[in-house]
Amino acid sequence: MKRRTVMKTAGMGLGAFMGLGTQRALALTGRASDQAGVTPSQGPRKAIVIGAGISGLAAAQRLRTAGLEVLVLEARDRIGGRLHTSTAWRGPAMDLGASWIHGAGPGNPVAVLAKQLGARLTSTTYDNAEAYDGEGGELADHHNRLLEAIQRQVATAIAERDRRKEQSLKALVYDELDYQDRPVLEQRMIDFALNGTYEHEYGASADQLSARWFDSGEAFEGPEHLFLDGYQVLSTHLAAGLNIKLKHEVSAVTYQGPSGVTVQTNQGEFSAHYVVVTLPLGVLKSGRVNFTPALPTSKRAAIEGLGVGVLNKCCLLFPQTFWNSRLDWLNQLPRQGKAGQWAEWVSFARPTGRPVLMGFNAADFGRKIESWDDTAIVQSAMGALRTMFGQGIPAPVDALVTRWAADPYARGAYSCHVVGSTPQQRDDLAQSVNGRLFFAGEATERQYYQTVHGAYLSGLRAANEVLRQNTGSTAAAPWRPMASPLG
Ligand SMILES: Cc1cc2nc3c(=O)[nH]c(=O)nc-3n(C[C@H](O)[C@H](O)[C@H](O)COP(=O)(O)OP(=O)(O)OC[C@H]3O[C@@H](n4cnc5c(N)ncnc54)[C@H](O)[C@@H]3O)c2cc1C
Repeated sequence: MKRRTVMKTAGMGLGAFMGLGTQRALALTGRASDQAGVTPSQGPRKAIVIGAGISGLAAAQRLRTAGLEVLVLEARDRIGGRLHTSTAWRGPAMDLGASWIHGAGPGNPVAVLAKQLGARLTSTTYDNAEAYDGEGGELADHHNRLLEAIQRQVATAIAERDRRKEQSLKALVYDELDYQDRPVLEQRMIDFALNGTYEHEYGASADQLSARWFDSGEAFEGPEHLFLDGYQVLSTHLAAGLNIKLKHEVSAVTYQGPSGVTVQTNQGEFSAHYVVVTLPLGVLKSGRVNFTPALPTSKRAAIEGLGVGVLNKCCLLFPQTFWNSRLDWLNQLPRQGKAGQWAEWVSFARPTGRPVLMGFNAADFGRKIESWDDTAIVQSAMGALRTMFGQGIPAPVDALVTRWAADPYARGAYSCHVVGSTPQQRDDLAQSVNGRLFFAGEATERQYYQTVHGAYLSGLRAANEVLRQNTGSTAAAPWRPMASPLG
């Protein structure tokens, strides 16, 4: 995700605003209430993977390939988790969770998988953008230049920060840029830079993000690819041949006693030698899944300390395009008092040929609108678009709206570093317990958190930890996949 920030910082500052075009009790029998423990001498070793998101599916396939009996327990009535493709509309599949393979160049395992699958891909470019003024119309040229200068000042203040000092990103930038002494227009621009470039990227508000660690991850190089048939092609591929029980919501995980783990669901108990937990950080934070004995102190501190951000999408299908259909990104500098509202839109007209706009809201406003009904959200979105393009634009034919924070099986979009959290906490979150409980998911990934490829890699890492435990070997296959993504 850092790459996106880097690209956006450069793109927004140097081109976008220049209008230059920017987962058997393992009841494999399906019996509920299989209370039997696990006896190591009974056939192949058994593993339960909690969650059928990308990390759970990757872990399950790796374990199945290695000869374990694997059961995936998933609360939803679908696989994919935060990969959620809607095919409600004829034409382009709409990804309501992740859309892009960020940095689809060499080394990105999701790009490798997509290529092996022959997935139909397209791409968007941050530089292929146009800027609009929240006061109406396109942003004037001299305001584009001023915004470019402000973007550079914000990026410089962040690049040159004292990394020992714990403070929020907003406090850092406001202080370094003497925010309070600036004219209103420049304040709008600083707030826009913080929202569009950082809050949209990391999910939390700038006054929660840790100036020290918010961008501590790494990124792959390469284009920003979109799946024309949606990210579901990846989850469907990874789910092939797996024993997945949908609508099985896990409420408790018990790993006391000499061996094995018991998992309680709304449809009975399941047990195995090993359990891979891929519950989103937001779900772990909610306390809806009980662990007995309690998880180690360092893991509980990580669950509490790391943050979960919000990013929501509002996809609008129009009868025809009314915007420059050659552009990928339409950015709006919100007027005073509207900071963080409908600042970024991506157009699907050029990559898919369909008159679709996807509006993004992150952090505070992204969270706030989740309490609104769909009609109110679309009205708000249309208000922003009418400011940008005039009152005469057509009403949308249909809309798809997300509420990732309210989603009981996500409780947010992705993890982030809020003030007080550290990268070490991701390792603590990933740490296995008693050789029986293993943890995966994007939040456990120190390098590539927040991403699909990070979640995928975390699933392979956790599976290899299980295999090492299972064989007693310290020399399991390397988990960083390149040529063969399932390792
Ligand atoms: C709006 C949005 C946009 C994004 N954009 C991008 C992007 O463009 N590119 C990118 O790389 N990343 C993006 N991401 C991040 C990416 O989607 C995630 O990092 C990744 O999908 C997380 O995978 P995971 O396996 O860790 O978690 P999940 O996919 O959340 O899987 C966890 C699974 O556990 C299940 N579960 C939860 N509770 C229970 C329970 N009690 N019992 C059983 N099962 C349960 C869930 O239903 C889910 O299926 C985006 C995310 C969002 C929300």
